[in-house]
Amino acid sequence: MESASDVLKRIFGTSQQSSMGAEIADLTQRYKRLEAITFPKPSSTRIIAVANQKGGVGKTTTTVNLASAMASKGLKVLVIDMDPQGNASTALGARHGSQDYSIYDVIESRHALSEVFQQCPDFQSLTVVPASIDLSGAELELSDVQERHAVLRKILNSYVIEHPTQFDYIYIDCPPSLGLLVLNALCAAKEVLIPIQAEYYALEGLGQLLHTISLVQHSFNRTLSVSTMLVTMFDKRTLLSREVFDEIQKHYPKIVLNATIPRAVKISEAPSFGQSIISYDPKGAGSVAYLEAALEIAQRSVQVDEENIRRQHASDEPQANNGDSDTRQEGTVQ
Ligand code: ADP
Ligand code: MG
Repeated sequence: MESASDVLKRIFGTSQQSSMGAEIADLTQRYKRLEAITFPKPSSTRIIAVANQKGGVGKTTTTVNLASAMASKGLKVLVIDMDPQGNASTALGARHGSQDYSIYDVIESRHALSEVFQQCPDFQSLTVVPASIDLSGAELELSDVQERHAVLRKILNSYVIEHPTQFDYIYIDCPPSLGLLVLNALCAAKEVLIPIQAEYYALEGLGQLLHTISLVQHSFNRTLSVSTMLVTMFDKRTLLSREVFDEIQKHYPKIVLNATIPRAVKISEAPSFGQSIISYDPKGAGSVAYLEAALEIAQRSVQVDEENIRRQHASDEPQANNGDSDTRQEGTVQ
């Protein structure tokens, strides 16, 4: 007679094995496709703030891994850590003790941007501007400065004008707030990337974030666009994850990436080794997903360029001509 475990094996064992086999085969195929593909370069430096006032949604993880994914494909990338926690600095193997130069020294005009550059040990074309805990003081100190919202913008603009081909991408990892540091990032950036965690309260707070971004667009940075949303910690076994993705796609079809980032233990382990998932587990599900997301972002460069030119023209026109319509164009907040 067939034993209970044989029955279980017969019913679940093989099918589980074969579905796992299919998953591995699928992953291998996706990896091979990515390996063979060239990531297009943008025509000018794309400056992307990775923002969401919610903590723990995957901002830092996304910044670090998208930047590493792009650098692994030969694009030249700068990551600016604007979070006093310095998690992006840690994950990219950048020193960020109180004795190390950081973005704080740049904001306080003690050092030029290039003086605080550190090369990421894992990728030759990945540069990091680290942050340390003293950056938390900048919120207060900046509040006395004239044009306090535009300190980072002035620094980045003049750097990019002087070195137009040095970086293809500049990612700014924002802290989980809507304070002065985030305002500086939103004023300095041309695009915002919003990571959204696939969870029950995913869309809660999104309205407030988009409202803040539209205020920044109106008051300080007319050419800013919300170019990208990325669903993180996606669990394909749960209906909830699927529902969150569908909901976001329904509301923001043009900006949400088709790639989603799976919830994976290795993604959360990598930073403790001072590594991105791209170097820690290059062929794993997390790495492949971030490479796919990075490819989509890179392939949208042409579309984003056109959008920027259109917005630049619109913002150059007299106020009376562009009015409110600016924030309702596609690719911005909707
Ligand atoms: P934020 O910067 O928005 O606060 P983090 O990127 O630091 O969020 O992520 C919050 C926590 O979730 C971290 O411990 C991180 O390692 C973990 N995490 C992020 N993305 C994933 C993922 N795809 N799978 C598993 N853990 C993740
Ligand atoms: Mg973070």
